Parts: sequence; structure tokens; C-alpha cells
Amino acid sequence: MSLIRCEKLCKAFGETRVLEDIDLVVDPGEVVVLVGPSGSGKSTLLRCLSVLERPTAGVLEVDGQRLGARGVRPRDLRRQTGMVFQQFNLFPHMSARDNVMLGPRKVRGLSGREARTIADRLLERVGLSDRADHYPAELSGGQQQRVAIARALAVNPKVMLFDEPTSALDPELRGEVLRVMQGLAEEGTTMIIVTHEMRFAEQAASRLLFMDEGRIVHDGAAQAMLAQPPSERFREFIGHVG
Ligand code: ADP
Ligand code: MG
Repeated sequence: MSLIRCEKLCKAFGETRVLEDIDLVVDPGEVVVLVGPSGSGKSTLLRCLSVLERPTAGVLEVDGQRLGARGVRPRDLRRQTGMVFQQFNLFPHMSARDNVMLGPRKVRGLSGREARTIADRLLERVGLSDRADHYPAELSGGQQQRVAIARALAVNPKVMLFDEPTSALDPELRGEVLRVMQGLAEEGTTMIIVTHEMRFAEQAASRLLFMDEGRIVHDGAAQAMLAQPPSERFREFIGHVG
């Protein structure tokens, strides 16, 4: 069964139409990279998939649960996705471990001990066992983003969504975050990633989507699309970011 299914999904803010007839199916284990010019609707699409925004029309199903269906609450869908933002949005007054424990405690209703075990395992997975007691201000941007990834993983989402996770980082800190994401991809984590890191897309993505003006213009195998750009518009785009 597909983990994400959109059918003619649309999103408008007042008169402004931001997403137009998005058809998208993502199956378990797929690593999808989403690219497109600024303002093309990438963030809005991720925010609709995580139900941070409500689509104005069309169908959205996450893990077989359909938004708007009887007995299905928006938060039932929301908790199936883990979101990682460009700005890490960690709670500054909480240690790395406490940031990661929050989801298991609040969303999954686990005990402090259970949540701590999960947090420590995830901090180890992102290579930060020795930073568990540090506050965000004591961590580098790359470390903060890895904590944010651990925090998103901690609610056991079916799909991980990344919105330009390395764009706010100095170039020398991007690699450590991309390596963590590459590791998740290799373990079979289902992911949709908005990024300009085309080398990462080439290595980690199974599939590449190109958005322009609120529509998915291309949807294909990542390596094939990069080797043979399917349109002049796309070739020009990757020429600029790559
Ligand atoms: P991208 O992530 O591809 O740069 P966005 O999804 O952020 O694009 O934005 C797509 C379009 O939607 C832009 O024109 C943006 O101004 C508009 N938009 C995004 N969020 C809102 C909002 N909350 N209210 C009004 N317009 C919005
Ligand atoms: Mg964006």
C-alpha cells in the first residue's frame, strides 16, 4: 500500500493558487527529491502532506487514511509524518535529549524512561551520543539539525519530510546532515526531501520531482533525469543550482 497518495490536490491562499492538481503516490522505501524554483510550491506541498496546511481541494491519503473521511482526524494523518525544517526549531531551553523525548512523551504517551531510551538510541543514530545534555546554543548548526532529525524520527513516522534541511548551514556543515539522511535512505526510510543538493539527489534519491508554478512538471528516476534532462526548463534549473 502507498504511504502518500494525492489526487488533484489543490491549495490556494485566498485568490492565490499555489498548488494545482497535484497527483502523487509515494510507496514505502521511496526516497523522493523535490526540486523547483523559489515560489513553485515545494514547501506548501510538504506542509499539506503533513497537514500543517489544509488542501483546498482534492484527495490526500497518508498511510491509507483519507483526510476528511469520517472518523479520521487531521492529527491522525499528521503524526504519520516527521518534518525537518530549514530552521531547526529546537526548543532553546531544553537539552538535545529533552527535545527528542518530547514527541515520545506527548504524542506517543510513553513514560520518561521509555522516552529517554528512544531519545538516546536516536541521538546515537545521528552521531550525537556525546551531546545529549547540551543545549541547542551549545551545538553547531549541523549538530542542531541532526538533533532535529532525531526529534522527527522519535514519533515513529511512516514518512520523513525534509524542507531544505541544509540551506541554513555553512557549506562545511552540510555533509554531516546529508550523511545522516543518506543513512536513513539506505535503511529504507520513506522520505520526501526538498533540496538543492543535486549530488545528494543523484546518490540517494530513487525519484526526482520537478515543480514549477504549483504543478509537478516532471516525475522520474533521479539518475536518469539528471543524466538526460527531460526539458530545457529543467536543464536550465539544475544548471543554476548544481
Ligand atoms: P517554495 O517552497 O517552492 O519556494 P512556497 O510553497 O513557499 O514555495 O510558496 C509558493 C507560493 O505560495 C509563493 O508564491 C508564496 O508566496 C505563496 N504562499 C506560501 N505560503 C503562503 C501563505 N501562508 N499565504 C499566502 N501565500 C503563501
Ligand atoms: Mg520553500
